[in-house]
Amino acid sequence: MKLYNIKQHNEQVTLTTALLQGLGKNRGLFFPIRLPKFSEDEINNLLSMNFIERSANILSEYIGAELSKNIILDCVKNAFNIPLPLVRINNRISILELFHGPTLAFKDFGCRLLAQFLNKIYNTRNNNKPMVILTATSGDTGAAVAHAFFNLSNIYVVILYPKHKISTFQEKLFCTLGKNIYTISVDGDFDACQNLIKQAFSDDLLQKRLALNSANSINIGRILAQICYYFEGVSQVSSELRKKLVISVPSGNFGNLTAGLLAQSCGLPVKKFVVATNINNTVPRFLRYGYWDPHPSVSTFSNAMDVSCPNNWPRIEELFRRDNRSITELEYDYVEDHITKNTIQFIADLGYLSEPHTAIAYKVLSDKLNANEFGMCIGTAHPVKFKKLIESFFCNKIKIILPLSLQKYVKLPTLSYDIPKCFFSLRNLILKIISES
Ligand SMILES: *Cc1c(COP(=O)(O)O)cnc(C)c1O
Repeated sequence: MKLYNIKQHNEQVTLTTALLQGLGKNRGLFFPIRLPKFSEDEINNLLSMNFIERSANILSEYIGAELSKNIILDCVKNAFNIPLPLVRINNRISILELFHGPTLAFKDFGCRLLAQFLNKIYNTRNNNKPMVILTATSGDTGAAVAHAFFNLSNIYVVILYPKHKISTFQEKLFCTLGKNIYTISVDGDFDACQNLIKQAFSDDLLQKRLALNSANSINIGRILAQICYYFEGVSQVSSELRKKLVISVPSGNFGNLTAGLLAQSCGLPVKKFVVATNINNTVPRFLRYGYWDPHPSVSTFSNAMDVSCPNNWPRIEELFRRDNRSITELEYDYVEDHITKNTIQFIADLGYLSEPHTAIAYKVLSDKLNANEFGMCIGTAHPVKFKKLIESFFCNKIKIILPLSLQKYVKLPTLSYDIPKCFFSLRNLILKIISES
């Protein structure tokens, strides 16, 4: 598979390079040179397969000879053993629940497949530097990355997070794993953590000793993974409803929507996509007024979407350009917190407990859906991740229970290192950890 840098088309790389490197020159995103197109028969054949087999086929069409079909199948089997039911809410709308993975959010799919790919690629390369996944988290991404890479040989994970600024449960979920997962609590805020990461990536000594990778949502490996669950969602819809299917995606950095649009571009029958954001509405305002005007980001109930400069948006523009389509095809809107709360209460009356991100997708979808259409919301997180908030919406009359599989983490000791917000402390610690392991 060959990809090019959107900012500098003459920079062309293999999938391996894109996976290892993340971004191209000038911080440009990588985009596939060849966009696969399946015929209607091929699509119907794919839709009749099971999730694992189908995903391996789709990925193999994108990736080509660079990874053998067997290697891809192996990666998919290890990464995608997660249930993803489509749950009917009423006669017009269903929710594709992508939150039954180890950290209860859809990011498990992308992170787990990327981890499997890197594991295969790195082990087959003659590389003498240890690979270190280095990332900062304000809570949730860290957990998805940690669980995805846990126990993989030859890959170390170092995750920074702001001390006392994430919930105890969030901390327990990824700071108790041990083995190749190292967590560092920084005396500072999330921005301080991100600054330390930036310094690390531009530090000569660390670059010389280690193969650093951030595994963040701009990595093409995560996007490729996410194409697969759109196919699974559609496969669970009856063939008669497929013709009128509208999919709503709760969006922050727009990786999830990029994957949905790629699925549609290669032939998946989707009539329309709906962009749903919170008050951090740079994209809805862009689609409405035609100019790009990010405001400072604002915190909301749907905090994973508190993004004002969505880093995957250039990929969406590039895809529409390549396919000679216009972004005016996208339906869009944003939802403010008080409406998000009302929507969660409204959906609960239909017998379904939702959380802020999914509720935003539902709200915009139900406002935009025409009489002859059928809607699917992408359900991105489990309500238990927002337990306190959601319980407060119902005056604490309901109790959300942590799934059994996660209760064990609460009792485990936290294994994090503590550092001040100082780059040299971070560098020394990373070098010490790697040399001792
Ligand atoms: C990351 C995240 C989103 C936003 O996804 P993008 O791909 O960044 O647009 C939505 N909901 C939840 C729960 C998330 O964790």
